[in-house]
Parts: sequence; structure tokens; C-alpha cells
Amino acid sequence: SEEKSLNFIEEIVEADLKSGKYSSIVTRFPPEPNGYLHIGHAKSICLNFGLALKYGGKTNLRFDDTNPVTEDTEYVDSIKDDVRWLGFEWAEERYASDYFEQLYGFAVQLIQKGLAYVDDSTSEEIAMQKGTPTQPGTNSPFRDRSVEENMTLFAEMRDGKYKDGEKVLRAKIDMGHVNMHMRDPIIYRIKHAHHHRTGDTWCVYPMYDFAHGQSDAIENITHSVCTLEFIPHRALYEWFIEQLGIFPSKQYEFARLNMTYTVMSKRKLLQLVNEGFVNGWDDPRMSTISGMRRRGYTAPAIREFCDRIGIAKRDNLIDVGLLEFCVREHLNKIAVRRMVVFDPLKVIITNHNGETEMLSSENNPEDLNAGNRDIPFSNELFIEKDDFMEVPSKKYFRLAPGQMVRLKSAYIIRCDEVVKDAVGNITELHCTYIPESKSGSDTSGINVKGTLHWVSAKHAVHAEVRLYDRLFKVEDVGNAEGDFKDHINTDSLEVIPNAFAEPALAMDSAEDRYQFLRKGYFCLDKDSTPEKLVFNRTVTLKDTWAK
Ligand code: ATP
Ligand code: MG
Ligand code: MG
Repeated sequence: SEEKSLNFIEEIVEADLKSGKYSSIVTRFPPEPNGYLHIGHAKSICLNFGLALKYGGKTNLRFDDTNPVTEDTEYVDSIKDDVRWLGFEWAEERYASDYFEQLYGFAVQLIQKGLAYVDDSTSEEIAMQKGTPTQPGTNSPFRDRSVEENMTLFAEMRDGKYKDGEKVLRAKIDMGHVNMHMRDPIIYRIKHAHHHRTGDTWCVYPMYDFAHGQSDAIENITHSVCTLEFIPHRALYEWFIEQLGIFPSKQYEFARLNMTYTVMSKRKLLQLVNEGFVNGWDDPRMSTISGMRRRGYTAPAIREFCDRIGIAKRDNLIDVGLLEFCVREHLNKIAVRRMVVFDPLKVIITNHNGETEMLSSENNPEDLNAGNRDIPFSNELFIEKDDFMEVPSKKYFRLAPGQMVRLKSAYIIRCDEVVKDAVGNITELHCTYIPESKSGSDTSGINVKGTLHWVSAKHAVHAEVRLYDRLFKVEDVGNAEGDFKDHINTDSLEVIPNAFAEPALAMDSAEDRYQFLRKGYFCLDKDSTPEKLVFNRTVTLKDTWAK
């Protein structure tokens, strides 16, 4: 097999194993349960779980649930679902909230070492004290409280004696530090809020920076991988670990995935849901894992995409076309072929007796084990309206008066007569078929250039088909002018309410993947009922956006 070069994080892991720094590795995927996972998270999942799989270590799924206001169990469940669907299993399911008592203890330790203090300043005052990147900050008037006073006040904060914002606990580091994050950061705040797991037990909650590294250390995480915006937090991450003398987890940063024509922040995705621009988190146009899954993307295709884009050290914008390419490539191998007519034109075969004739067609020419299916043929068929031209142009190889085409896996037909209604609209075509031209045993000697998909009118099943386009009109939504919602493509969903499908489709299940011949790749949507099938177009057959 082809030797792939290591990414920079794999290089670090290999060096750490080789030097004996670690005998095995522990990674974690740490989502905040405040929304559904998106394709950017898939990148992080593939990286973290992939490292452990490759080097024989383990990966924890840790819910970073330190902000009671925005978090919810619905999100926890969806996240677990999505990680499993992507094909990964975690070693342990952990919650930062399980460590609240331990984290509180760490804060007490800092107070006792004279490294943390309770501050009564308002958030505005603290912001002023911080200074600017080019100017040092100033000390808070509460910075020199005694250890005893801090111990009492912090205990009172926990006991609920104070209102939200009345007091905070700050690390006592250096208000003149070049790194703004080191200027006495807030590590605990008061929040009288109900937590999705700990209920009303707590009214003080640790800040992200005080929870993340310590949670890593508690779990003996060896390589804590996060995205580039955490580079300035790394000094603080290390400072806490050092002062507390806990397991020396190390933070490494890689570039977050950004993709064209989409947004990926949970905050923005939540707005799309709440303001009705899409129909829920799993709307097939969303960049969420659940949306992509509903749309028919496959987990192997998403993993392949994450693998191909690699691990970068600089922010970049990945072409969504690459993801679609990976999806198309996988679906071409596994999708069963079916025929569906979206916009029907009736064809009467005048020389056919009308009895149902069963024809056979391969399910997937890419997969010899996929077998065949039966397709009924009769004297009334539907073809696609735009596969007929009354006055054809020169290179038109589809159907036209006097012209012949092959019906896929069936016969060659010739158009003899165009039937119109009183106002001149074409209502049906009268055609003859060539009985000797049956696919697989064609002795007619006739060569035709066009092959059309079709269905037998009386055997066809009805289906709604949903065609999706990009949700945004601009490539780089994150850097486009104005509000991101100004760039929404209002034509991103086209519904074909009544398509005609060959009957084999009615017997398939939601896990199946289809190629509707000449139309694209499709899957059954969860809105389907036995009475009404609904299909989503997963991706077109070719990149229709290629310039
Ligand atoms: P969002 O801005 O979408 O809310 P987040 O980083 O706040 O993202 P978390 O739930 O904290 O979301 O993310 C869990 C993990 O996934 C983190 O380690 C984070 O770095 C990683 N992650 C999030 N978004 C991306 C992305 N676009 N590309 C790569 N990794 C990401
Ligand atoms: Mg986060
Ligand atoms: Mg976030």
C-alpha cells in the first residue's frame, strides 16, 4: 500500500513513544454539548480517535459542560450518536461536570498557595484592569486579600451568598504579562443556573481555561489537540498544571476546518435552526453530521475527506467540492441503480400488446455481487419531458419525431407521432418498439446514440424528491460582508412533489443508497411513509459547480 507521510501531530506522538516519554497515548474529543456536531468536529474526531487507533492508545469522549446556560442533554445524545455513526467508539464517557468537586479543590489549592484571589470588581472594571496588548494592565484593589479572607469568600461564593457577577475568583499571575491571557484570568464565576447534570448543586462554575487542562490531567491525556485559537491559552494551560503539580498533559494546536459555501459555528447553526432558515439541526443542507447523514453522505466518505485534507498548521478554506467528490466516489461503489422520472411525458408503445413483461437490469455495474432486479415493461411508459424535442437540434441524440433511442435495459423505440391537446401542449408520444432490440439479446443491428431512463406507467410508484443546492451564495461565508444570513441561498431546496419511480424502490430501506440513473445519488428521507416515499438528492453525478 501507498506510504502516507505523517502529519505533524503523528510525528510528535511517534517521537514521544520512541523516546519512552509515554508507553501509550490517551487522547480525547471534548465537545461542549451546546449544539449538534458539524463537519469541523468530524475532522477533530477523526484526528483524535485516529491517533489512538493508529498508535494503540485510547480516546475519551469528554463533554466540556462547564456552562450550564447553553448546554442540554439533547445535545449530549446527538453527539454520542454522531461519533458512533462516524465509526468510532470511545474508551470512557466523561463529563467535565463530574470533576466540579475536584476542580473546586484545585482552586482552593491555588488560594492556599497565594495564587488566587476573590475579586469584587465588576466585569467592566476587570476589563479595564487588563490593559491592552501594547500596555500593561493594573492590579485589582482586591489583589492582596489574605489567604484566610479569600478562603472564606470563596466558600461563601459556593454557598450561594452572592449574586451573579458580584464576585469572581482570579488567578494571581502577572498583570504586566505580554500574554493577555496571563493577566490574572478569571477562573470561577457565580452563576445561579440549573445544570443539565448537576442540577442546582453548584452556583459557581469554572471557566473554560480552568476546566479544560485540569480535566485533561485528571484523565491522563497525553496529547490534547485543539484548534489554533487556543495557542495563546497554552501558557495558562501549562501554568495551572505546573502550579497544581498534576499530570502534565500537553496541548497541541491544528487549523480548524473551514469549508466553502457553509458556516460551521454552532452559534450560527443554531440561528439557522431557530430563525427557520432550515428545518432543524438535521436539515440535509446543514453542515452538521446529522444533516449530512440524513442527506445520504456516508461515514467512510466523511472519514476519507478528513484524511485527504490532512492536518494543517494554518487556517485555510477547503472546497466543499472535495467532500462531494469523496461522497460521489463512495456512492458510485455502493449505490444501487434505479430509474425515476421527475417530469413525465407519456409514451404509448403502439405495437405492444400491453401485457406486463419483466426485464432485468443490474443493480450496480461497479459491484458484480449486487445482482439484478426486475423491471416491468408495458405499453404505457413515462420518459423525462426534456428527453424529447419536437424540433431537435443537430446533436440531439434523445427522442424526436422519427428518431430512435434505447430505453435502458429494455428496447429501442422510435417516435412516430406527437399528440397534442387543444392548445398545442404535447400530451403523449406514440412510438413503436423494436422487439429484436432487447438489451442483452439485441439482434436488430440498429445503432442508436441515446439511452434514456423510463418507467412503466401502470407499475410506477409515486415519490417526492428533494433536490438541494448550497445553503449560501458566497464561497467564504465567514469573511463575507454583512451578516452571514444575508448570503443565504433562498433557492437551496427544490421539491419534485410527484416523481415516478420503478417499483423496486418501494421495497428498499432507509440505509440503502441509490443512483437514480442520469439524476444523481439519492437516499430515502426520514419523512417517508409507506404511502409516500421521500428521497433526498445526496449529490449530483458530476460536479455541476466545476468552473
Ligand atoms: P463551535 O465554534 O462550532 O461552537 P467549538 O470549538 O466551540 O466549535 P466544541 O464543542 O468546543 O466546539 O468542539 C469540540 C472539539 O472540536 C474541540 O476540540 C474543537 O477544537 C474541535 N472543533 C470544533 N470546530 C472545529 C473545526 N471547524 N475544525 C476542527 N476542529 C474543530
Ligand atoms: Mg469549545
Ligand atoms: Mg463554541
